[in-house]
Amino acid sequence: MLFMGNLDNLKLAAKEADRCVACGLCLPACPTYRKTGSEADSPRGRIQLINAVAHGRLTPNEKFNQHIDQCLTCRTCENVCPNGVGYGKLIDAARAFIAPAQRRTEKLARWVLQRRSAIALSGRLLRLAQLTGLRRLLRGLARLDRIDRLLPAIPAQTGWKSLYPAVNARGEVALFLGCTSSILDTETLRAAIHVLNRLGYSVHVPQSQCCCGGIARQQGDAEGSHDMLAQNAQAFSPLGDMPILTVVSGCGMGLRDHLGKRVSDISAFLATVDWQDVTPDALPTRIHVHDACSLRNAMRQHKPVYDLLAHIPQAQILPLPGNDQCCGGAGSYMLTQPDMAKRLQDDKIEACKASGTSLLVSSNIGCALHIAAGLRDHGIVMEVIHPVRLLARQMGHKENAA
Ligand code: SF4
Ligand code: SF4
Repeated sequence: MLFMGNLDNLKLAAKEADRCVACGLCLPACPTYRKTGSEADSPRGRIQLINAVAHGRLTPNEKFNQHIDQCLTCRTCENVCPNGVGYGKLIDAARAFIAPAQRRTEKLARWVLQRRSAIALSGRLLRLAQLTGLRRLLRGLARLDRIDRLLPAIPAQTGWKSLYPAVNARGEVALFLGCTSSILDTETLRAAIHVLNRLGYSVHVPQSQCCCGGIARQQGDAEGSHDMLAQNAQAFSPLGDMPILTVVSGCGMGLRDHLGKRVSDISAFLATVDWQDVTPDALPTRIHVHDACSLRNAMRQHKPVYDLLAHIPQAQILPLPGNDQCCGGAGSYMLTQPDMAKRLQDDKIEACKASGTSLLVSSNIGCALHIAAGLRDHGIVMEVIHPVRLLARQMGHKENAA
């Protein structure tokens, strides 16, 4: 039995579909259409399906759900559409409509994602499971195995202070921690604070911030996602219009849509500030850049990553070939749609192999985990790292031992 959400909400969102003139220019850019060749797996096809359901011309069924589920929400279509169709809003509304009773973020998960202390505790428990060998024992359980394959070694967990003052501060910024990054990529957050402080920016870390709401939105839990965005708006409001920097473009995408241009990817901010007398150590190597879809198509801030890395003397900064196509990570997509995720991952692995690179940077932890897992599976030794973490290393930042 299918449980459907509010049809009026879907109808309202479907007004956006009226802007689509069915020109088909988005089709060749869509990764799922490229793989399946099916109109129903293209942006134009999905827009027509959503519109038909919203206006009662089509009864929603499992097939409809599948075509909606198979969308990566990479928003490449939005980027190439000459009519500016806001596809992201449409697909979010379709997901909220489909089976909300089944998809609603589990109450416990939502409770955890809204509390920093609970997110931190989850990180400590994961680390404990790793140190005691429990993580190894749990491998082999189907779903857990898939998650385990993606996870890196869980780093030592860090408590975050409310303020990291710079010596001779010339500005202030706020840092968004994110749930996944604050558990799995504490080094990037520490690196971000190091670089910002070195450049003269004091860093505020509001303690009541929570998950960005992206996980809930992807699960069709519009209410949960909205609650988390509202909590974050509240957490950052005492800081006035101070820039809010993110180290995960997947988080930045939702926050920027909700809180406006005050939210920026950290690389975009760092690329525009005065580097004064700060010169990172030279790194005479080729660095390939993976453009995350959320950074490229939604935040539209992928170019500054290249400008930022150009501060590293002797480094050659190159785009990873095929950057216009999603890697298949796409938040929880890599877990919920493993077949398509794997096909798209394979393309990235081929691009990595062909590039001959040993260093890949990505501004989105989901992409980094997904690509790194593929590289491990293929026995390819290549580091996948956040650009700011790489920069911090070249600025003398010492990382914690695992
Ligand atoms: S979404 Fe835009 S590009 Fe795609 S068919 Fe509609 S108008 Fe054309
Ligand atoms: S968001 Fe990505 S996968 Fe979904 S229709 Fe658009 S281009 Fe295709």
